[in-house]
Amino acid sequence: MPAPTYRTEREQIMATVRELDRRGLVSGSSGNVSMRLQPEGGNDRYLITPAGITYDELDENGLVIVDGDLEPVDSEIVPSTESLLHLGIYRGRPDVNAIVHTHSLYASVAAVTCTHIPPIVDEMVVYIGGAIEVAEYGFPGTDELAAAGLEALGDRRAVILRNHGMCAAAPTLKEALRVAILVERVAQIFVHAETMGGATELPDYAIETERQVYLMRSGLAGTD
Ligand SMILES: [Zn+2]
Repeated sequence: MPAPTYRTEREQIMATVRELDRRGLVSGSSGNVSMRLQPEGGNDRYLITPAGITYDELDENGLVIVDGDLEPVDSEIVPSTESLLHLGIYRGRPDVNAIVHTHSLYASVAAVTCTHIPPIVDEMVVYIGGAIEVAEYGFPGTDELAAAGLEALGDRRAVILRNHGMCAAAPTLKEALRVAILVERVAQIFVHAETMGGATELPDYAIETERQVYLMRSGLAGTD
């Protein structure tokens, strides 16, 4: 059997999966991670975690490369059932090169209460781009979920998926992991704040200034 390609990217995804697991943001086989690959010739290629394998059983060789039609390129491994969600976001957001999807606890609390999280701490606007909106419900693994997720994501880096979980989308895998961790922290702060009289949003001027920082760093300045 030939050695798997994209060794570095495989190691990066496994390091991300292990970090999510260590932080308790994924459990069993829930959640998934992917990267947009940059093959010569410019064909769409994505590296993604497989369907139905628990993370303690997974290694670099168990990740799947798929094309733009979600067909595995060089293995028989079945990609994550949430692959359409990843592909939908990659298609709609050319600036996104990595996606982390989890069913983390406090993000799921927001997801099942259908509660969007307003900008309540500075790093939310700087690193996520503002509020975390809730996508309309879409059945797992469908185009509807992908379209709803992409729409609610807008030009930001995180979205809550109604009755499901969250998705972080960023230019690099490192940033997508950072956003996934931040979303869980912010959701936790928000849930506790709501039991103590309610969270207070950042002042408008802070949101506007930090939003400009986000757009400049993301190469999206001028699109607001
Ligand atoms: Zn999911």
